[in-house]
Amino acid sequence: MNDKTLVIVDAGHGGIDSGAVGNNLKEKDLTLEAAKYMFNRLQDLGINTVMTRTDDEYLPKRDRINRILSLYNNNPNTLIISNHINAGGGEFTYHYII
Ligand SMILES: [Zn+2]
Repeated sequence: MNDKTLVIVDAGHGGIDSGAVGNNLKEKDLTLEAAKYMFNRLQDLGINTVMTRTDDEYLPKRDRINRILSLYNNNPNTLIISNHINAGGGEFTYHYII
């Protein structure tokens, strides 16, 4: 990490795409909660951070990719964290790309 580092925090799913659903929980809500937490925590640490969505927005795959690409803006110091929460084992996963 350096002062040029940009972290893009993606909250998986959203809107009509609920993702996994179970136990009265929707993946889209949990990923947004996790993403907001990460965003606030990273901002507190002085790390330049943006989110792909900040509310219950539906982002079709292509739109999500385009949004990430425009935030990424060819900055080689970019870290992308995409939050997903699996239904089966209830485990939390995230994917990152440097
Ligand atoms: Zn997911």
